[in-house]
Amino acid sequence: MTTRRTRGVVLAIAPHAESDKLVTFYSPDMGLVTGIAKGAKRSKHRFVNKLEEFTLLSILYRPPRRGGLLFLSEADLDNAFLTLRHDYSRYTTAMFVAELVLRFTREHDPDPGIFTLVHWALFSLDTGARPPRIAAIFLLRLLGLAGYQPGLDTCALCRRPVSAELDYRLDPASGILTCSLCRREAYAASGQVLSLQTIRFLQQAQQLELRLLRRLQMPARAAGETINALTAYARHLLQQDIHSRRFLPVTGVRNCRSAPAVPRR
Ligand SMILES: [Zn+2]
Repeated sequence: MTTRRTRGVVLAIAPHAESDKLVTFYSPDMGLVTGIAKGAKRSKHRFVNKLEEFTLLSILYRPPRRGGLLFLSEADLDNAFLTLRHDYSRYTTAMFVAELVLRFTREHDPDPGIFTLVHWALFSLDTGARPPRIAAIFLLRLLGLAGYQPGLDTCALCRRPVSAELDYRLDPASGILTCSLCRREAYAASGQVLSLQTIRFLQQAQQLELRLLRRLQMPARAAGETINALTAYARHLLQQDIHSRRFLPVTGVRNCRSAPAVPRR
């Protein structure tokens, strides 16, 4: 069978049998896929230091005959994103990125925009951007690409444009913004607070091209509000917890005692 080449960001690695590894990655032309790297634990040349979480690889593979796992023949390292492996907050934010992609995408359902967004997030974390800001913008943009863009221009109930006179909350069950007037009239659910400043940043973050997003100087408070509000919405959409959220370096997010160790190289 002929071999093919693709690029992929590794999202998860699991040992398999005595010497194999299962590698789950996101590729621009295949989406989320899992492959088996036979003999990866023993291989000195084909896979050493390459099959690690959050690496960007150029992968040579054989497709399966009927669905199932790809057979990974060889991998070349395009970017190891080394900085985030030696910095706890960068590493835990990369975990958050990977978990969200694993939860929000389906196997063999490619979206090049999601691949570009994941690459942007890991590259930004690796090159000095502040982790909470990257976590907040990544989650906002991923929700949009997955078809769950929160509405942030008007109160979804009275349709008044967002203004400084009222305060706003994001309803975690629907991703809609509600104003304090509507909530006072008691037909709107409560939700997570989003200040006007945060809403303005998020409106820009929804519209700007990815290459310009790093210039958006989102304050720590806005990043914290965004992560709190959008993870509540994402949790409702997925109907399950987002485990890596508790490790994020965000104000108001409690850190877990049994935090994972950053792997050393
Ligand atoms: Zn309203």
